[in-house]
Amino acid sequence: MQQSRSQQLFEQAQRVIPGGVNSPVRSFRAVEGTPPFLARGQGSRVWDVDGNEYIDYLGSWGPLALGHAHPVVVEAVQRAAADGTSFGAPVEQEVELAEIICAALPSVDSLRLVNSGTEACMTALRLARAYTGRPKIVKFAGNYHGHADGLLVAAGSGALTHGVPTSAGVPESYAAETLVAAYNDAESVAELFAAWPNDIAAVIVEPVAGNMGVVPPASGFLNSLRSITEANGALLIFDEVITGFRVAYGGAQSLFGVAPDITTMGKIIGGGLPVGAYGGRRDVMEMVAPLGPMYQAGTLSGNPLAVTAGVATLKELQRPETYERLEASASRLTDGIAAVFSQAEIPASINRVGSMFTGFFNPGPVATLSEVEKSDTTTYGRYFHALLERGVYIAPSQFEAGFASVAHTDADIDRTIVAVGDALSQVS
Ligand SMILES: *Cc1c(COP(=O)(O)O)cnc(C)c1O
Repeated sequence: MQQSRSQQLFEQAQRVIPGGVNSPVRSFRAVEGTPPFLARGQGSRVWDVDGNEYIDYLGSWGPLALGHAHPVVVEAVQRAAADGTSFGAPVEQEVELAEIICAALPSVDSLRLVNSGTEACMTALRLARAYTGRPKIVKFAGNYHGHADGLLVAAGSGALTHGVPTSAGVPESYAAETLVAAYNDAESVAELFAAWPNDIAAVIVEPVAGNMGVVPPASGFLNSLRSITEANGALLIFDEVITGFRVAYGGAQSLFGVAPDITTMGKIIGGGLPVGAYGGRRDVMEMVAPLGPMYQAGTLSGNPLAVTAGVATLKELQRPETYERLEASASRLTDGIAAVFSQAEIPASINRVGSMFTGFFNPGPVATLSEVEKSDTTTYGRYFHALLERGVYIAPSQFEAGFASVAHTDADIDRTIVAVGDALSQVS
């Protein structure tokens, strides 16, 4: 059989890039097979190098709330590129992006732009340690905050998929400064504070878990984290890298009415270009150099192309009814899929918050990591490929989120629901 162009490229890639990919989950190890190499995206669609077309729910793992190659974003980036791609000096557009974000999130008085969500979370922890003078942090099993050393401790996402609870190369002494609590279990956090009353600098949490599949916060969970951290002199960090400008314009903190001390962002705020940010209360942010003693820097931070894409994206998202539309599209999709699931022989359930969702091969409800882990990943892999063959692209792992964008039409969604029905009858 003749090899597809994607198969050829994947073989070539494996000779020069570890596993042939620049981020492990792209390798399809969790679902097997060869990843299509993508050549083009437009609106809700992507095309691979062999000319196959897919309705895309990966959305570049979250950034593409407007869909692919939105004309306003593309034009803004083209114009910015013609004026020079990097200066390493202040530019007007980075001020505009910071102003838009601070206006959207009342808990963020000021912020620093970086290049990825990883960098944002890594720095937020350093900032919390600098501010409190304490060494330890608390994270939740199954939450993912990027690949900084101290955060690859019982990490979710790729680490869950590959069955590696911690990464090689992380010193045990450093990992020991990270305490791991159970998501949606505030009592497990209170126990850690009881054990280390004066040592915990911060609790970092995905206010809606997205990296173990979508798991919403239990009622009162985020409020409890707010009061426990406050009572113990620790900071609360919301990792809104996925949820920022996704579950609501003001992020999960506006949806659930809980204000953190520090917020980390990424994904949507770069509109598909590499941007991250951390921001928060003014007295905390005054620790950051050059104002204060906590060092952090970046050659390409506030890069004019990247921040221009972010500004254009966030301004588009300000249009009236954008979030109503995202909600309506995503609920049309997940209601349709839930109806198909309920008639299938395979136990399955679906979680959704705003326009992020995950279908679990698990009878549900899925509200904790241990419930997530009961999902049937073999069936997920077969379902994934059955959908791909029918022109629907979802995350190549059970433990990830899917995303609707403003570019998904009702027709796209209805076609997807039919494909889900066909895919399920193939895998049952
Ligand atoms: C994607 C993600 C990150 C890491 O962001 P990168 O840009 O991939 O480094 C951190 N936290 C959460 C919640 C994420 O979803």
